[in-house]
Amino acid sequence: MNNIYVWQVAVWRMLTQSQAARGHALLLKGRKGVGKLVFARNLAKSLFCERPSADTEACGSCPSCGWFEQGGHPDFRLVEPEALAALADEATTEAGSNAEPEPVSAKGKKKPSKQIVVEQIRALSDLVHMSSHRNGYKIILIHPAEAMNLAAANALLKNLEEPPPQTLFILVTHRPQDLLPTIRSRCRQIAMPTPDLATAIAWLEQQGVKDPATSLAAAGYAPLAALEFDDADYLAQHAAFIRQIGTPGGFNPIVLAEEMQKSDLPTAVNWMQKWCYDLMSFRTTGKVRYHLPMLAAIKSLVSEIDPRALAAYSRSLVSTQRLARHPLNPRLFLEEMLLSYAMLIAPARSKRID
Ligand SMILES: [Zn+2]
Repeated sequence: MNNIYVWQVAVWRMLTQSQAARGHALLLKGRKGVGKLVFARNLAKSLFCERPSADTEACGSCPSCGWFEQGGHPDFRLVEPEALAALADEATTEAGSNAEPEPVSAKGKKKPSKQIVVEQIRALSDLVHMSSHRNGYKIILIHPAEAMNLAAANALLKNLEEPPPQTLFILVTHRPQDLLPTIRSRCRQIAMPTPDLATAIAWLEQQGVKDPATSLAAAGYAPLAALEFDDADYLAQHAAFIRQIGTPGGFNPIVLAEEMQKSDLPTAVNWMQKWCYDLMSFRTTGKVRYHLPMLAAIKSLVSEIDPRALAAYSRSLVSTQRLARHPLNPRLFLEEMLLSYAMLIAPARSKRID
């Protein structure tokens, strides 16, 4: 197979064997960065394809495949938050981010919404209630499904309760617990697999990643996310951050906050969360998950930190992460996160100074 990731082949075969295997609504759930969206797009493309291969992969050269690749297939809709569509527009050259620019409501200079709103679901009714242009399926891909607000979810629910003929809904999510239970129960739920370590490393090597094991660990074992960790700038920034916070007395929170104030804050908080995860994990199990090369530094830090303070700080990062999308002042936001961390590791620091 050319376009299906090796760890998805079994799911692919199961879902492409018959229409009954898919039902009228699929919920593809699984970890971030395992290729759920790519899979969903490939599935839609193959169902539209006029000359699919023996493995039911899309041919890539028939008129339907052409329309699909250009984002103009008349029987297909991608529903995603405006903010995500805007992002995909900026990166149209990027493979696989072939999002349909379909601004449902032009809102002037208002910030693009991070939610899927009810108007977007209502706008589907034309597609849903007309017969398909090509005498086949109509497919609606909703991504990420948890971005639907309550009104949108309820509007979708009506469609799922009375499924229109020859229509397939594909919902993609890495947070299925955030969906309405009634939506979940109306879908065929598919657990999208995470590849085992050897498979993921072999695949990353094929993609030209220099140090697959380290990238993979840093990305929480999600192979597509690990590709991002192969980006030299990103990797360097991440390594510098970890090196600093991993060295007691080795960083100045004020200076580091200033250096990082232009970076993506949710990413920075996520780095800190993974770091604290490893500190906690090492303390309880003697193992780390994300920062294998930093094992010695983690070991020495953990021996000095008050475990209750560490647990409290880790918990506080959950609300820090929530605030990271809308900070009033990025520099102060980072200062607060880093100062608290500096106080946490202060015992280790003072010992080092002695
Ligand atoms: Zn085709």
